[in-house]
Amino acid sequence: MPHATYPLMFSPLTIRGQRLKNRIIMGSMHSGLEDLPNAAERLSAYFVERVKGGVGMIITGGITPHPSGGRGAKLSEPSEVPMHRAVTDAVHAADPEVKICMQILHSGSIANVREPVGPSPVRSRLAKVPPVELDEAGIEEQIAAFAKCSALAVEAGYDGVEIIGSAGYLISTFLVERTNQRTDRWGGSWENRMRFAVEVVRRARAALGPDKMLIFRISAMDMLEGGLAWEEVTSLAKALEANGADVISTHFCWHESQVPTIATMVPRAAFAQVTGRLREAVSIPLITSNRINMPHVAEDVLARGDADLISMARPMLADAELVNKARDGREDEINTCIACNQACLDHTFTGQLTSCLVNARACRETEITVKPAEVARRIAVVGAGPAGLAFATIAAGRGHKVTLYDAASEIGGQFNLARKIPGKEEFDETLRYFGRMIEVHGIDLKLGTRVDADALAAGGFDEIVVATGITPRVPALDGIDRANVVSYIDVITGKAKVGQRVAIMGAGGIGFDVAELVTHAGTSASLDIDVFAKEWGIDFRNHPRGGVTGVVPEVASSGREVWLLQRKTSAVGKGLGRTTGWTHRLTLQWRGVHMLGGVEYERIDDAGLHIRVEGEPRLLEVDTVIVCAGQEPARGLYDELIARGLAAQLIGGAFEASELDAKRAILQATELAVAV
Ligand code: FAD
Ligand code: NAP
Ligand code: SF4
Repeated sequence: MPHATYPLMFSPLTIRGQRLKNRIIMGSMHSGLEDLPNAAERLSAYFVERVKGGVGMIITGGITPHPSGGRGAKLSEPSEVPMHRAVTDAVHAADPEVKICMQILHSGSIANVREPVGPSPVRSRLAKVPPVELDEAGIEEQIAAFAKCSALAVEAGYDGVEIIGSAGYLISTFLVERTNQRTDRWGGSWENRMRFAVEVVRRARAALGPDKMLIFRISAMDMLEGGLAWEEVTSLAKALEANGADVISTHFCWHESQVPTIATMVPRAAFAQVTGRLREAVSIPLITSNRINMPHVAEDVLARGDADLISMARPMLADAELVNKARDGREDEINTCIACNQACLDHTFTGQLTSCLVNARACRETEITVKPAEVARRIAVVGAGPAGLAFATIAAGRGHKVTLYDAASEIGGQFNLARKIPGKEEFDETLRYFGRMIEVHGIDLKLGTRVDADALAAGGFDEIVVATGITPRVPALDGIDRANVVSYIDVITGKAKVGQRVAIMGAGGIGFDVAELVTHAGTSASLDIDVFAKEWGIDFRNHPRGGVTGVVPEVASSGREVWLLQRKTSAVGKGLGRTTGWTHRLTLQWRGVHMLGGVEYERIDDAGLHIRVEGEPRLLEVDTVIVCAGQEPARGLYDELIARGLAAQLIGGAFEASELDAKRAILQATELAVAV
């Protein structure tokens, strides 16, 4: 019987004789677990939770086939097989129907090795040195390594391999003219440039034997000026099919590209239409990906005929049970990936273990375990921001009797402000999730209730958890109490009037968000694929090389003249997320926002904001000053409780406001909730 709501998502598909029970794949992500001494145990626990959560197939994080391919986990010698075997055994034991394929990743010119290799010595912006140009013997050695790695993957019990041929890694640098300047049989004409990819596939196919799957990840749109032309993409796909690929997975990325492809401002499933076009060129199944974070989005993509399979990578970090929840009609219980990158990609690129902002247990499955409480306790939680919500829902899920108070009329705390910023609409999903969890776990929610120590003392609680958040910092400055000096809170909630010439004091995450809000005009790009494409110079219809037009995008603006200020002399926005900060900086630059560092604030008067920059006095003739100068912990209630001798615990911003974000608030709350 087809599934009533998701008939396509829950229809099986057979690839090379192997039956996938549904169309959802956990896409490849480097978790960092691969590199730990207890990798097998940690990876097994991480994957098995997703297997039990209903996913049809898993693709592992990238495993390098050759020492030159990167310093991460490798599979190039038989001695490396047992770690992988332990993982595949665990996955198959958890559900023999679920498949697991190993991604083979050779990072080429961007490998973190002393002497990276590539087709030509063209240095990537992300690498310190140009790659060493491979000679004929070197090329043969690399192809042989892909084949040997494939054979070892079979020995290790994988159901197949995914070879990554996109994103600026080794294979893709052979494909693109810009990185392949050879004049021998591996460069020059398109036939020569694609020879390496095709040869890798042909030899890997032979090494895998007749029963194992071969997936090839292709750059369907590499977002790179001078990248692949559409005819090259289709011709490559056909050649891969002819040489033994069973599935083509479409990728939309080149690590140096200046187009966001997975950040929260990218509309859901924005790139699936490209997969749909490629599907017409080949007869093997296609996988699509990027910002497909809910089951109805996946079903719509399948229904439009844009793909045969859906890869969800980050959504599987956010909620291991996503597929089962969809199957059982519990979509409103899905903890949705909000595409913030804060705990996943930002961690990967800074050498930290991957996790997830909304699910702190991701990749910590063996460290943070949720067990039923031995004794159910009565717990008061004050504050329904991310910290209070995470604590309350996990503690109640363990069987504790939780009462959750918030002074506001809705749950969310500062997340209610975050979700009002154009491009952050996904944050709504986190509040929908927590709202539902409050119902599921029978939490006694008391909104519009500012509790004090008297009320809590009278409540007879066994535990009190204080998650009262922060109060915005008000810098001591002449004129700070003028009517035209307003807090970010009043701007975001619409209480404050904002003029045409605006100074923003403070260029942290909130300063940037406020600058986005006051300069924004028109439809939010994250909600409209055409607006997004226009803003970032993507041409989905004509598909120029790389998919990008190369002209400076025209971004709609409110027309306000805005100064974004900080006292630090470092580049403005330097502290923003590693993988997303540049997108915020670029958009504001395009809207003409003046970003000034090294600012000393002097006073605010009728003329505007008086500052000094490098000692030189300057007047910004603004009509509105918005204060985004950081935050202080709101600990009044906690101090009162302690003064009365009541036991209370602090979490989130109330614990520490400096460098606070929702990732830290939720992690701290989770750790306390599993221990209480
Ligand atoms: P809060 O969210 O501040 O919640 C505290 C709650 O306690 C409030 O709801 C308050 O009403 C309640 N409260 C206080 N006193 C009492 C009382 N006595 N009785 C009852 N209730 C009380 N973080 C990120 O990680 N990523 C982002 O992209 C991001 N974007 C942001 C954008 C904006 C515009 C803002 C303002 C913040 C953003 N943040 C972001 C920061 C993030 O929202 C905070 O780090 C997080 O909300 C802190 O959580 P918390 O639970 O500690 O406190
Ligand atoms: P923040 O990032 O700490 O920035 C505070 C800003 O205020 C800084 O620019 C700081 O820079 C300035 N400042 C500090 N003290 C000041 C003073 N006395 N007078 C004038 N300026 C002062 O904090 P935030 O912007 O309030 O954000 C709060 C938290 O929310 C952050 O930790 C952030 O991670 C999180 N957040 C994250 C995102 C995201 O996209 N990831 C978005 C929004 C918020 P100078 O000292 O150099 O002037
Ligand atoms: Fe998604 Fe953010 Fe979690 Fe990464 S950290 S998986 S982007 S919600």
